[in-house]
Amino acid sequence: MKKILFVTSEAHPLIKTGGLADISGSLPKALVGLGVDVRLIMPNYQAIKTTEDIYYKSTVRVNNTDAHILETRLPDTQVPVWLVDCPEFFGFPGNPYVDEQGNAWPDSAERFALFCRVAVEVAMNRGYLDWMPDIVHCNDWQSGLVPALLSLEASRPATVFTLHNLAYQGLFPKAVADLLNLPRQLWSPAGIEFNGMLSFIKGGLAYADRITTVSPTYAKEIQTAAYGYGLEGLLSYRKDALTGIINGIDADQWNPETDTAISERYTISTLSKKRLNKTALQIRHALPVDGSLPVFVLISRLVEQKGIDMIMDCLPEMLTLPLQFILLGKGESRFEQQLTTIANKHPDKIAITLGYDEALAHQLEAGADVFLMPSRFEPCGLNQLYSQRYGTVPIARKTGGLADTVIDVLPETLSNKTATGFVFTQAMSGSLMEAIKRTLIVYSLPKTWQQLQINGMQKDYSWNSSAKEYMALYEQL
Ligand code: ADP
Repeated sequence: MKKILFVTSEAHPLIKTGGLADISGSLPKALVGLGVDVRLIMPNYQAIKTTEDIYYKSTVRVNNTDAHILETRLPDTQVPVWLVDCPEFFGFPGNPYVDEQGNAWPDSAERFALFCRVAVEVAMNRGYLDWMPDIVHCNDWQSGLVPALLSLEASRPATVFTLHNLAYQGLFPKAVADLLNLPRQLWSPAGIEFNGMLSFIKGGLAYADRITTVSPTYAKEIQTAAYGYGLEGLLSYRKDALTGIINGIDADQWNPETDTAISERYTISTLSKKRLNKTALQIRHALPVDGSLPVFVLISRLVEQKGIDMIMDCLPEMLTLPLQFILLGKGESRFEQQLTTIANKHPDKIAITLGYDEALAHQLEAGADVFLMPSRFEPCGLNQLYSQRYGTVPIARKTGGLADTVIDVLPETLSNKTATGFVFTQAMSGSLMEAIKRTLIVYSLPKTWQQLQINGMQKDYSWNSSAKEYMALYEQL
C-alpha cells in the first residue's frame, strides 16, 4: 500500500480560504478509497474548527523551536491529520495568511518555514510517529521548502508539488531568508533564490520530482510569459516533469439531491423544484420574487484575478436588462466599497453579502440560473463545476480550468448535447457583456435552457477519474 504524506496549509472543513482547502479535504478521502494510506499535515491554527478529538503525539525541535504534533482526523473520514502546533506562530485568530484585519502575517516566512521543517522531520520518520511515507505530496508555496529541504536528505521519499495558483509565490526579502537559517546550498538562482529574493514556490518547482497543476490548460499557460510571473522559463525547462490534472469535487458535499443547506433538494428528473430554491434566494435577499427573471450569482474572493472589475464595468448595463444579480464575496476593500454603493442604489436588482458563508454558497448554487466566472486566469476553478452539478449555467472566460470544463453554447454543441455554458475569450468587459446577452437569449428558450442544465448535471466531476490520475503518477515514482 502506497504511503502518502499530504502537506497543505488548509483543508475543508477544518479551515478554508479557497479552493486549496476543498482539494485537501476531498482528494485524500478519494485516495483512501483507492487503497492508499494518506495522512495530512497542516499547521494548528487557532481558527481550526472540528468535531473530532485531538491527541498529543510528539514534540520535535527544528531550528531551535519546539513544535508539537497533534493527531486528529478529517471530520467524518478515516484520514489522519497531523497538526503542527506552535502557538507562537499559529495561536492567533485570523486565517492562515492574514490577521483579523486582513493584513498579511508579518512573520509568514517564519511560520511556513517552521511548518516545512516539521513536515520534513515527519517525512523522514524523525517525528516519533513511526511512519515513513513513500511520497510527500506538497501543495502551493506554503509547503515549497519541503521538496528543497528533502533534496538534501539521503534515502528520502519521492516528492510531488502541486501548484494551485502561481500568483502566490511566497516571495520574501533576502534579509528574511537570512533569519530562516536555511541550508546555504539551496540559495542559488537554480534553487530558492528569485531575483535576489527568497521564493518558497521555487523550492517546489525546482526540487520536486514531479510537478502537477490543477488543469491541463493552466499547465500550458504557466509556461508562457503572460501567466508565468517570470517562472515560465523554469516551468518549461521542467515540462517533462509537469502535468495538469483537473480537480475533482466532493460529490457528497456538493450534491443537490442530498444537500441539507438548501431549501428544496432536486435531481435531473425533479429539476422543476430548483425554482423553489430561487424563490428562497429572492426572499432572503429582498429581491422581487419573480420566477421569470434569471438570477445571476457570483461567489468569490474579491480580487482582480476573478474579474470583479469587469463585472463592475458591466453592472450599469446589466441594470437595464431583465435579470437579478446576487454576490457573495470577501476581499479587497475597494471592490467591497464599490459593490456596496451600487447595491444600495439598486436593491431591487442587486444584492450583496460581504463575508464568507459556506451555507449561503450552497443556496446560491441551488437557486441561481447563471454563475459568473470571468476570471483573468483560473488554475482550475471549482464553482463552475459545482454550478454544473446544480443545473446553474456558468459564464466563464476561456482560461485555465474554465477552458477545460465549460463547453460553449454553439449550434453544434447544442445539437450534440455537449454545451454546458457560455464562454468568452477576451478579458474585457465588452466580451463579458456579450456573453451575458447571449445567455439571456438562450434563457428565453426554456427547452434549450433546460437541455443546457441537464448537460451540465450529467457530467461526472467527482474525484473518480482525477484521483486515479494521481495514483498513476504516484505509481511512476
Ligand atoms: P480560489 O481557490 O482561487 O479562491 P476556487 O474556485 O478554486 O477559487 O475555489 C473557491 C472556493 O471557495 C469555492 O469552494 C467557493 O465556493 C469558495 N468561496 C469563495 N468565496 C466564498 C465566500 N465568500 N463564501 C463562501 N464560499 C466561498
